[in-house]
Amino acid sequence: MLRDVSMEEISDGKKYTKHDMARLGCNDCNGCSQCCEKMGDTIVLDPLDVYRITKHLNCDFQSIIGTYIDLRIVDGVCLPGIRMTDETGACGFLKGGRCSIHAIRPGICRLFPLGRAYEDGSFYYFLQKDECAVKNRSKVKISKWIGEDDIESYEKFVLTWHNFLIRIREMVAKMDDHEEIRAASMMVLGNFFVAPYDAQCDFYEQVYERIEAYPLLK
Ligand code: SF4
Ligand code: SF4
Repeated sequence: MLRDVSMEEISDGKKYTKHDMARLGCNDCNGCSQCCEKMGDTIVLDPLDVYRITKHLNCDFQSIIGTYIDLRIVDGVCLPGIRMTDETGACGFLKGGRCSIHAIRPGICRLFPLGRAYEDGSFYYFLQKDECAVKNRSKVKISKWIGEDDIESYEKFVLTWHNFLIRIREMVAKMDDHEEIRAASMMVLGNFFVAPYDAQCDFYEQVYERIEAYPLLK
């Protein structure tokens, strides 16, 4: 989600890469679950997040809409996000104060309290200095914090997906017809979230093939 705030306001002013150390260590959260509650619409999911969640729950995308996820318009495009429950405002995956899908938690959850900022065809990480409830955090290498087995492929996917959404948003911004805008937005959902991925094949390659073949960008 694009945010209209200055880096000076929210970060320590440094630009980090996956090789850098940052003050992230929060003693395994130690009973805190603050960033899994009342986060509103901020935890937007990408196709990898949804693929992992549906595989883990052995279900399809549609069956978790309204329970674990909901749909929202993010910068003009309809995308899934983590649903905060009506009763407590907590993520539905938060069980007994812990994330019940920790091993496959979404990318935004892996990052927190890091953020990503995109510039010059790439991105860097920044530390959201006031977001985590723990104040005296220890230094942790960012690649370790994110915890992806293949961080190079993961970062390539993150950037490719971001660039794809930028192109879709630019295309939608030029449309006048409401129905055309809705159809374009729904196509993203249908092509990248609803249509299942073959678990026997490389996930990233499947996404890249879908982006390459995306009819509206031809
Ligand atoms: S706010 Fe910090 S300590 Fe609390 S759950 Fe989130 S990452 Fe863990
Ligand atoms: S998926 Fe896990 S880490 Fe992310 S908000 Fe929900 S409980 Fe927290």
